[in-house]
Amino acid sequence: MQLHEFIALLEAKGLKPRQQPNGQWLAHCPSHDDQNPSLSLTEGEGRILVKCFAGCSVDAICAALGITTKDLRTNQDLERRITYEVRDLNGTLVAIHERVERAGRKTFIWRHPDGRKAQGDLKVADLPLYGIHKLNDAQFVVIVEGEKCAEALWSVGVPAVATYGATCDPADEPLKQVIERAQTVFLWADNDDAGRKHMARLGKRLLELGARKFCGLNGMTLPRRAMRLTQSRQALTFRRFWTTPNPLKFRPMKPRRMAQRHQHKASKANAVRFAN
Ligand SMILES: [Zn+2]
Repeated sequence: MQLHEFIALLEAKGLKPRQQPNGQWLAHCPSHDDQNPSLSLTEGEGRILVKCFAGCSVDAICAALGITTKDLRTNQDLERRITYEVRDLNGTLVAIHERVERAGRKTFIWRHPDGRKAQGDLKVADLPLYGIHKLNDAQFVVIVEGEKCAEALWSVGVPAVATYGATCDPADEPLKQVIERAQTVFLWADNDDAGRKHMARLGKRLLELGARKFCGLNGMTLPRRAMRLTQSRQALTFRRFWTTPNPLKFRPMKPRRMAQRHQHKASKANAVRFAN
């Protein structure tokens, strides 16, 4: 709960919170018969600090407001854990990738199939790309960075596999598995420098490994939820991509043209056709 929410709660209960010149708040205490405001509140150390000068406990104050002391934390930016199961071609679980989101930051943890935390004993580069077991003779596949993006694409019916971050290029074997299963590979880079370089390296290696046909979809941000695209400036390109009857004939729009259509500054990235 944030301080302003707590203030609103006091207000709603008729406890008349008032801000003092020193920035702190004073209100009537909900937990005793309080004629003179004796509840002081301020924010510090990631929580709302409450004190009743008549001596009510924090527990009693919270209980009187219908909340718990846990609600006084202001930095509880709900930790969100998402678990991605990495499976090989046969669908056998080979690793678990945990994404932990907290306070707008994300961290990742690797685990073995039995749940043990990996301590440098898991070669991520050798892992099959995320989602490879779902590719059965797909006409095309999109390689993206991160499982979340792959899931977003699958959710709108676009076959996708994911790498495990821009700093971890897949080894040859996982890349070969992709080429063997999809005739055409689209590389969709994250719209940042590291992401573009990551996909450029992959593109080069895919060519060396004998990929016949692929192209890069650069300069577009893959949104968290692909469905939201209807409102985004990439909507046009992406919608064309996934609704085109023959994705093999899809040609990404050049950023300059996109820029003209959407009247925004073109990103430096180019939509590169590597080869055909
Ligand atoms: Zn009190």
